[in-house]
Amino acid sequence: VKISKSYKLASRDFHPEDTIIEIGDVRIGGGELVVMGGPCAVESPEQIDEIAKLVKAAGGQILRGGAFKPRTGPYSFQGVGVEGLVMMQEAGRKHGLLTITEVMTPEYVDVCAEYADILQVGTRNMQNFDLLRKLGECNRPVLLKRGFSATYDEWLNAAEYILAGGNPNVMLCERGIRTFESYTRNTLDLAAIPVMKGLTHLPIISDPSHGTGRRELVEPMAKASVAAGADGLIIEMHTDPDNSMTGDGVQSLFPDQFAGLLQALEQLAPLV
Ligand code: PEP
Ligand code: MN
Repeated sequence: VKISKSYKLASRDFHPEDTIIEIGDVRIGGGELVVMGGPCAVESPEQIDEIAKLVKAAGGQILRGGAFKPRTGPYSFQGVGVEGLVMMQEAGRKHGLLTITEVMTPEYVDVCAEYADILQVGTRNMQNFDLLRKLGECNRPVLLKRGFSATYDEWLNAAEYILAGGNPNVMLCERGIRTFESYTRNTLDLAAIPVMKGLTHLPIISDPSHGTGRRELVEPMAKASVAAGADGLIIEMHTDPDNSMTGDGVQSLFPDQFAGLLQALEQLAPLV
């Protein structure tokens, strides 16, 4: 299959060695599996603190949580905003976890970078080129989710915007694409993992939570992602998924499931 290769810095031809992103003592892309876990949205100091404790106890390295939520409808809960960044930074520091949060607009890059260790670009913003340019000037690693209808070439070109701006620390995240199937929320494209390993040197993270939208499918797809060569996983976990403030409770693992999954993964790949 011929891919146009309009990107350069993202290409494995241009940069044959794997990119390893080092943040504190966590290495992403260096052959060890990294697990990011946490709620879809930061809701309160107590919620994020309790979940951070559970992520750490289970062996995760990075706390995920959205303070700014890209909701499909304007009347849905939009996230708690900057206060959520503060809550998450506190919880991360207290429990010895790095943090990752989504940034939706160029104007908010600086404040998100002030409070979080990794910035996430959501599927709906993969081609928000002003945002990508701004992230190119930022000193934080970026997790770039695949647009739900983006081709590999479009995804790598989006990464190229960040790299071309001067930020070399980009990881890709497969989070499922839109297909005709509606049983699952999205179709997790497992093939994207080995394809990205070939086309690019950037680390690849899998998101089986958004990739399936169904809690019972998270564990098998997480295992399959690791078997396919993923450098890490980003997984939603909530202490009270039925009452979570976004609709993503249905795909959030209960804490004991999250811990069980990480234990099972240790058989497949060493955790950092
Ligand atoms: C999320 O991580 O909660 C999220 C909104 O993800 P995506 O952009 O993949 O839908
Ligand atoms: Mn979510």
